[in-house]
Amino acid sequence: MKTLKQIKYQTPILAYTDVNLNTQIIYMKNNILVINCGSSSLKCSLINPVNGDIIFFALAEKLFTQDALISFKQGEIKQTTPLISPYDHQAAIQSLVAFLTQQSLHSSICAIGHRVVHGGEKYSQPTLISEQVKTSINELAKLAPLHNPANLQGINAAETIFSNLPQVAIFDTAFHQSMPEKAFLYALPYSLYKEHGIRKYGFHGTSHYFVCKNAAKILDKPLEQCNFISAHLGNGCSISAVKNGKSVDTSLGLTPLEGLMMGTRSGSIDPGIIFHLVEQLGYSLEQVNILLNKESGLLGVSQLTNDCRELEQASADGNDLAQLALQIFCYRIAKMIASFVPCFMQLDGLIFTGGIGENSQFVRSQVLAQLSLLNFTEDQSANQHCRFGQSGNISTENSRPCWVIPTNEEWVIAEQSYQLLNGAK
Ligand code: ADP
Repeated sequence: MKTLKQIKYQTPILAYTDVNLNTQIIYMKNNILVINCGSSSLKCSLINPVNGDIIFFALAEKLFTQDALISFKQGEIKQTTPLISPYDHQAAIQSLVAFLTQQSLHSSICAIGHRVVHGGEKYSQPTLISEQVKTSINELAKLAPLHNPANLQGINAAETIFSNLPQVAIFDTAFHQSMPEKAFLYALPYSLYKEHGIRKYGFHGTSHYFVCKNAAKILDKPLEQCNFISAHLGNGCSISAVKNGKSVDTSLGLTPLEGLMMGTRSGSIDPGIIFHLVEQLGYSLEQVNILLNKESGLLGVSQLTNDCRELEQASADGNDLAQLALQIFCYRIAKMIASFVPCFMQLDGLIFTGGIGENSQFVRSQVLAQLSLLNFTEDQSANQHCRFGQSGNISTENSRPCWVIPTNEEWVIAEQSYQLLNGAK
């Protein structure tokens, strides 16, 4: 039996559901193409927004070079192909459209959801992209010079190729727009905030939102009644305090450099170090920028690698600097978690996510061991079990709960894009 449903949008979109054929779901015109553009890469997933199934995935790398290539994955089918000139985002999208068409998936797309890193104070919600929104994203590039221009390139390329489909922007900063002034203001002259927007914005918002929503499901409570501290630990790292389902503080700031020690980023340092580097050691501002963003963090301290897995191995093999880098990393995570105590009268639990949070038993164990005052106690066997996409509670029965929850930012982008177009809350 076939049912026909009309989805609300300027251009009516038809969705066909065959209740007898589960497999037909991939041909329904209600999948979202999620695009995440970096300056030299483009990640793209075709997602069923209702259940998060990834129908197709593509990764284009080394854009703007003659080595540019794109890899596709759909079920068991895997394919890698070089990109054609001009080796840009549009060439990547054109190539993936050819693949989607070949697999008869092209017509299943009802909208494009774009990850946009910086939405400033203007965008706290999923937003239908218009010329005006694009102008704003461009203006906000002064706060995210590495990310917003690349996101915009992806939007322009997708608009050219999917000219009849709605494009939605999901901002990485949006979830943190609920932070109160006392959390987002720096102790700088107030005029710098009012006139130049210098304040904490926070990032990884879609990830913090996703894992908190899932932790609320585990507790069987509405998210609005839950209080969590959520630690997203990957190459970039951030921790958020989520009170009554809303972000009330977070560790990343005006830029993604503040807060925790990261793969190659220093995290928070005494700002006086910058003057010292420039005035006493002859660094240029450009060199300081590279030092703090690309040469510090786990890589800088270990002098070895930014990769946590490799550091754990080196540490186990007796490398002193690898051990030290991991010690600093874990201590700072524990300290940041403890720093959010003033945000709560009650705390439902702690969540680990991101490549390190989801996989590193070692890091989680070290962090929990330093938080016994907050009544966190590791269940060693449960902690060992949670890796490679396995979620679970890694704390003992008497401990405050601590969960490992794999993040899925793409699903949030697909779901929120779909909900926006369907007028759902
Ligand atoms: P990004 O911020 O680039 O998305 P990811 O979330 O993929 O990064 O996280 C990458 C980090 O996760 C790397 O430091 C990597 O070593 C670490 N990681 C992945 N698997 C493991 C593992 N099994 N044990 C420890 N660390 C891991």
